[in-house]
Amino acid sequence: MFAVVRLLNGFEKTLWYKVPDALLTRNLVGSVVRVPLQNRKESALVIRQAAMLDRGIDFKIKEIIDLEGFPGDVNFNAFIEKIAQFYFIDSFHFYQRIRNFLHESDDVDELIPPDYQPSDSDRIILTDEQQVVVDYVAPHITNPTYTPVLVHGVTGSGKTEIYKRLISQAIGEKKTVLLILPEVSLSLQFQHVLQRQLPTIPIVGFHSATKIAEKRMLWQSLLDQKPIVIIGVHLPMLLPIANLGLIIVDEEHEQGFQEKKHPKINSKEIALWRASMYKIPIILGSATPSLQSLANVERHGWKFFQIKRRFAGAFPDIQKVILMGSNNRRRDVFWVSRELETAVRDCLARKEQAMIYLNRRGYSFFVQCKPCGFIFACPHCSVSLTLHVSKQRINKNNQQAHEQTLLRCHYCDFNQALPTQCTSCKADEKHFLKKGIGTQQLVQIFKELFPHASIERADLDSTSKKRAWQKTVELFEQGKIDILIGTQTITKGYNFPGVTLVGILWADLNLHFPVFNASETTLQQLIQVAGRAGRARSQSKVIVQVMHDHPIFNYVNEQRYLDFCKQELEVRNEIGYPPFGRLVHLELKTKNVGHVERDAEHLCDQLRAINEERDLKVTILGPSFPAVYKIQNYEMRHIFLRAKAYTPIHELIDSLDTTLIQSDLYVVVNS
Ligand code: ADP
Ligand code: ZN
Repeated sequence: MFAVVRLLNGFEKTLWYKVPDALLTRNLVGSVVRVPLQNRKESALVIRQAAMLDRGIDFKIKEIIDLEGFPGDVNFNAFIEKIAQFYFIDSFHFYQRIRNFLHESDDVDELIPPDYQPSDSDRIILTDEQQVVVDYVAPHITNPTYTPVLVHGVTGSGKTEIYKRLISQAIGEKKTVLLILPEVSLSLQFQHVLQRQLPTIPIVGFHSATKIAEKRMLWQSLLDQKPIVIIGVHLPMLLPIANLGLIIVDEEHEQGFQEKKHPKINSKEIALWRASMYKIPIILGSATPSLQSLANVERHGWKFFQIKRRFAGAFPDIQKVILMGSNNRRRDVFWVSRELETAVRDCLARKEQAMIYLNRRGYSFFVQCKPCGFIFACPHCSVSLTLHVSKQRINKNNQQAHEQTLLRCHYCDFNQALPTQCTSCKADEKHFLKKGIGTQQLVQIFKELFPHASIERADLDSTSKKRAWQKTVELFEQGKIDILIGTQTITKGYNFPGVTLVGILWADLNLHFPVFNASETTLQQLIQVAGRAGRARSQSKVIVQVMHDHPIFNYVNEQRYLDFCKQELEVRNEIGYPPFGRLVHLELKTKNVGHVERDAEHLCDQLRAINEERDLKVTILGPSFPAVYKIQNYEMRHIFLRAKAYTPIHELIDSLDTTLIQSDLYVVVNS
């Protein structure tokens, strides 16, 4: 018996080895083995077994040394093959990725033992609404069956308590649990909460911020088939797990499950495939479920639960304020309405806390030269540069700080000092216009409006400085900050009981982005932000400031979310967009503009020809420019494929001849 292997070090060609007698009794396909190569030992993945050598092989075949420790998982190979086929990626890539990841980084820090606090989870009595979900899912863990469950639980309804119960049960039955969240920061936060509240259960993170010691511990647990909870974003979904018993996808509506980098897989979709192949239950939870999942309840018999009550507090009053064309002119600054100003004043007078949300970092969106209209843009990306004002401490002793204005690219690391002259017409900087408002400028405005309040900013700029961010969160939790201003980072996961006012500035900022689901994602975002108010108080308020009105602003009250969905589903049905029909796009990416354009045309021609020839009835749109079509000097083009189902799209992609394509090619699922 012979085995065809690929080396995990990335060597392209396949190699032949003889299977030693000791290993003859097993099917080695999908196993990792050690093989001799020259004078070295190399790890390799067995991709095929054969009784005889292929014709033409006449060199001496060496023998496999032994099996390398790889977690036994009978479904793993088939699962990885499915992903590979769907995303047009060599399955080998996934084995390599996991392996590289485990060995990556020379960070040798010891695991920091989490600061276990006495758990109060034993004392928690689930509410009836929570208990119903647990009672439904629990038997499917014990007698494993593919059971997709969508939990629509309003903000503060206690979805985490449901997860905790089910996790405890699964671990008690010696089964491993995968829990995925749409961001690394959320994963870390969730991991800490669970480690504190479930101190007897082994919980590990597996993402880019995981320390190597923790990764090793995880791998050992997988080899030993120990029950464990694995938390992350994308990577956990690609691990071989012999005793997988439950998958949880929290904040399931979020776009973050779509990987932004190679290989651009969608971890939520993969989680569903995995649950179905492994025949286990999967819970998807959100306060604002995706239209896709709601449609799956209707059409694919997913079980649906609603938790309509908050565990504590009450829902906030929502007030919409339209800035443009209203007689709301009598205000001190353009960006803050009188309603918001008054509400903040009242909130401060009651010694309560406010959160102000704006989905834009920096001081102002872009800088434009008034005389000639020139806009400062990134030399490496197709975006304008954002103005940032940073304080630099000159001297530690007298703590003197001076301000530095920087133009920064939010897509790459590029930054430069704000020039003193226009690049184009040489006009002096006093003619520059600073357009659009960012969180930095907002802080300045609020400090002028409320000079006695304590005001802090928390957004990606400052969260990258982790310790400072942690400190800000703590101070806000303790009530030592009155107003917290920030981007998405302040919206998710945290529970700030003292917040009774949420102000959303420029709620329509992303609403007109050219994607089919802009309404859905904007509303979800707004509801999540609004949901920070009133977690522990009976009276709370949300002020939604918009430039222009739009129907979605009537649904920011989360109790009406499903009404929005019903309407939006009708619209989608009419135009044949997801969840009615499938939308996939091909992304071409390379540094050479000529190549990317020629490749895009070439692929489009091929797609159209195959589509016609086989009568696949796929609508092909493109090639087109993505909203940001150049990032870090990589040019990108998209080709959209829309059809009733995945099958014809798949067939189309599968039949492509890509031998002449020089760009990188990705398959991205839109949902
Ligand atoms: P969300 O559904 O928004 O994720 P959380 O899970 O954060 O809500 O729950 C909100 C708060 O309510 C948390 O502090 C949580 O501990 C508390 N909570 C929820 N359910 C219960 C319960 N049955 N008993 C005690 N506390 C609960
Ligand atoms: Zn850039």
